[in-house]
Amino acid sequence: MDLEQARAKATELSQLIRKYDKAYYLDAEPIISDREYDLLFAELQSIEKLYPEIIVSDSPTQRVGGEPLKAFEQVTHNVPMLSLQNSYTKEDIFDFDARIKKSLENEAFAYSAELKIDGVALSLRYIDGKLQIGATRGDGYAGDNITSNVKTIKSIPLSVPAVTYDGKELKNFEVRGEVFMHVSDFQQINKARIESDEKPYANPRNTTAGTLKLLDSALVAKRKLNFIAYYLKADDFEIESQHDIVDLLSKLGFKINSGVKYCNDINDLINFIDEWESKRHDLPFQTDGIVIKIDSTRQQNYLGSVARSPRWAIAYKYESENAATILRDITVQVGRTGAVTPVAELEPVLLAGSTVSRATLHNMDFISERDIRIGDTVLIEKGGEVIPKVIKPVIELRTPEIIPYVFPKYCPCDLKTLLVRFEGEANYYCEHPDCPWQIRRKIEHFASRDALDIAGLGEKVVDTLVNEGLLKDIADIYELHKHYEILKNLEKWGNKSAQNLLEAIENSKSQPFERVLFAIGIKFIGRGGAKLLVRHFKNIDAIINATRDELTAVHEIGTKMADSIIKFFSIEMNKTIVERLRNYGLTFEFDEVEIVLTDAPLSGKTFVFTGEMESMTRSEAALKVESLGGTETKSVSKVTSYVVVGAKPGSKFDKAKKLGVHILNEEDFLNLIKG
Ligand SMILES: [Zn+2]
Repeated sequence: MDLEQARAKATELSQLIRKYDKAYYLDAEPIISDREYDLLFAELQSIEKLYPEIIVSDSPTQRVGGEPLKAFEQVTHNVPMLSLQNSYTKEDIFDFDARIKKSLENEAFAYSAELKIDGVALSLRYIDGKLQIGATRGDGYAGDNITSNVKTIKSIPLSVPAVTYDGKELKNFEVRGEVFMHVSDFQQINKARIESDEKPYANPRNTTAGTLKLLDSALVAKRKLNFIAYYLKADDFEIESQHDIVDLLSKLGFKINSGVKYCNDINDLINFIDEWESKRHDLPFQTDGIVIKIDSTRQQNYLGSVARSPRWAIAYKYESENAATILRDITVQVGRTGAVTPVAELEPVLLAGSTVSRATLHNMDFISERDIRIGDTVLIEKGGEVIPKVIKPVIELRTPEIIPYVFPKYCPCDLKTLLVRFEGEANYYCEHPDCPWQIRRKIEHFASRDALDIAGLGEKVVDTLVNEGLLKDIADIYELHKHYEILKNLEKWGNKSAQNLLEAIENSKSQPFERVLFAIGIKFIGRGGAKLLVRHFKNIDAIINATRDELTAVHEIGTKMADSIIKFFSIEMNKTIVERLRNYGLTFEFDEVEIVLTDAPLSGKTFVFTGEMESMTRSEAALKVESLGGTETKSVSKVTSYVVVGAKPGSKFDKAKKLGVHILNEEDFLNLIKG
């Protein structure tokens, strides 16, 4: 075979493979067996190996993933990727309709409605009909260039056929849509993780987002990601309407939403919303609402956008999902402060796309107020949180032998100490300083991201090291280097893991005092409290020796916190641990340079966060606010400056609306902290 014959053969094979890909991934109707497909693919690969010069960028072999990257480059979006305003009631939709009517001065208009997939937004740039760049949404203005990962998603065409609109060919354009994972594929991944003793992922969306950010595209290729397109903008001309866009996307070879409808008026729209409320659960992927757009592009442009959201579109979110299942048992877990909290052990049930077998029960008061009993059928709910919660028992289904729940008297640890409950507190406590369960969680807390941020020292590793007898308290972390031989020979470890851990431990010594104070785990002293104490007392000795009055003299340090500090340092073992940590070189003095200037941009502003943000976790956001001089508080009041609302917000959002507190969406917030 000479070069030209090879090129011709490769082209022929590529065309066949593309056809079979389309049948499999877009039409869900495979026309050849997997084995036949694999043979064709292998043949193409071997030809390309012989003649690398014939490889074209849209060859099917280019989907399998290339060399791992060191980091992603940034891509600026030509048109910012705005976020939609969310609505939770039909009333909001009627208000939206009324606003549009008014703005358009009663000119006729139509809606385009589509199911909102609970996935990750993606922007695709095609030049001359070929995929050039795939980018994440990022902050809306610029995202990560994840092209090598995007190429592995088989429902994204690497090149498109010739399609014309109004006599003009679509060659240079941007497509946007949602990347997502089927629930069944997600469950497969989690099954494998659980079997290999890894922590299961929270939900398909987070797993998709995490997958897209992998630097090794070969790993991405193994995860079965899908893409559905909903946006198309040609570089050289305007496409008149959303329904034309959907039509063109389909012709270009993109998968489009099965739930998409042109609605003549609001009644059509409401019917569509109702129609999908339950039907959406039959889909193989998760959806959380309906996206409503004004169909005409001209009218969209006329309406424009405001505060980082378009005026011509809105998202309607369905209520969060419930499921009923049997409460098989209530177990308890011991936290780092000795708090013993109940956990619901459930008959596994599918809820919002993932299998749920455990749920939180908060504390004994929560259980007794709702009279939740072992054996009951209970309703569980998944809000914005990762861990679902039990809402209430279904009393009608309760049988006579089901008796009220009694909280255990003793700690589940080997020491079996009598649990105590203090007045005014919801939790029971194991007060024994040697409680092995507390020690594990203390070490885990010490190493956590908000504390000393020792990567690699998570729940599983801590459990292993405690079981191996290498860690008996937090100070032992700094002796781990003496056990290098044991570490590297642990199951699934090796030189690299052991070295990485020791390096992270060494680095943690330079963390500032306020983190160290938070990390040592004094009950009721969170990051905020630690910071206040550090600023006021400057060093650990002053804190250890402070009287109750001196402590409460610090603004925002109450008697509960003061008593807890005094109690903590009255325990000889705690003082010894602090002394050891100091000797290992950890920081126990305040570095004045850290003082935030009073003219910092957010000085005097208070923030409350509710719901999940896409670009950062809540604690990262809080740190950012603090670094700019603001403070994060947990509850909303009239004096709250801003409530930042992410996806699936909680009751704080309603309260903020009621009190008229300034509400920011994620984009507003990012803008604010950008300055
Ligand atoms: Zn215990």
